[in-house]
Amino acid sequence: MNRRNWISNISGLLAAFSLPGLPMGSARAASAFPLTKAKPEWKKLLPADSYRVLFEEGTEASGSSALNAEKRSGTFVCAACNLPLFDSAHKYESGTGWPSFWQPLAGGLGTATDFKLIYPRTEYHCSRCGGHQGHVFNDGPQPTGKRYCNNGVALKFVLKGEPLPALRT
Ligand SMILES: [Zn+2]
Repeated sequence: MNRRNWISNISGLLAAFSLPGLPMGSARAASAFPLTKAKPEWKKLLPADSYRVLFEEGTEASGSSALNAEKRSGTFVCAACNLPLFDSAHKYESGTGWPSFWQPLAGGLGTATDFKLIYPRTEYHCSRCGGHQGHVFNDGPQPTGKRYCNNGVALKFVLKGEPLPALRT
């Protein structure tokens, strides 16, 4: 990210808040998603590791997800609400130990800027339920140059030819 983008991101973030000192991550929490459930409800519905990543913005250990090595054709859907987020055609081996894609499916993701590691990173999440998926970086392969670095536990893989799961309501 170049310096100009940094500055515009920071001023955009400040402009978005009327109150100073709001905790990080509030930008996303404040937006409304088509599917909204209280955190305790998601906690009941999801495995503990998926819940922690999706709704507490956790990060799984590098190399811990079986989806990292998933090379078959198919679709990656949100582990919380089943919205299709990535196609296997856009997955690549980034060497990071996290499932990586150079492009999401249209309409699948929303983004926000977070400052958890001091420098701003672009967080992305499911556009339907708001569940945190990962971060996007500008060191990916062509044609986009993007690296969507995703938590495996935030995704489910659906093999090509198998029906996509119904969207959770
Ligand atoms: Zn979702």
